[in-house]
Amino acid sequence: MVRDDCIFCKIANGSIPAATLYEDDDFRVILDAGPASRGHALILPKQHYQDLCQLDEAVGAKVLGLAAKIGRAMKSGLGCAGFNLVQNNGEAAGQTVKHFHMHIIPRYEGGPEMVAWKPGSADAEESAEIVGEVTAHL
Ligand code: 5GP
Ligand code: ZN
Repeated sequence: MVRDDCIFCKIANGSIPAATLYEDDDFRVILDAGPASRGHALILPKQHYQDLCQLDEAVGAKVLGLAAKIGRAMKSGLGCAGFNLVQNNGEAAGQTVKHFHMHIIPRYEGGPEMVAWKPGSADAEESAEIVGEVTAHL
């Protein structure tokens, strides 16, 4: 399904132009309009899925392989030292566009700085509780 009111549906299917690194039957990979680093890209499925929880499994199974292909090309072509894959689900997690997308963010020696979380601590009792709370829903 493609939605008329979704900017990423429009970009993925070519009705709004975007700098495109790659395209096939299922995906378009574009440069992010507000890049965190030089070459920051987004993998967009051509069909509309709100987030990872709604993503078709067969489409989802192709995402990591495509990210690896783009990441390898970034290392060779842009000379980045590495890259991060970032994928936000839900507003609380920072998702601003409600069409599944995977960020591929090149990382260069010396920058850019990326937000990192402060490690907390885990105790055995709470870990057991968490295991119960999640596995009850699998
Ligand atoms: P999110 O925060 O939802 O994970 O990421 C959305 C990303 O989409 C942001 O990094 C933002 O810069 C990018 N973005 C939003 N609108 C557009 C657009 O119209 N074109 C492109 N190329 N990127 C966009
Ligand atoms: Zn969409």
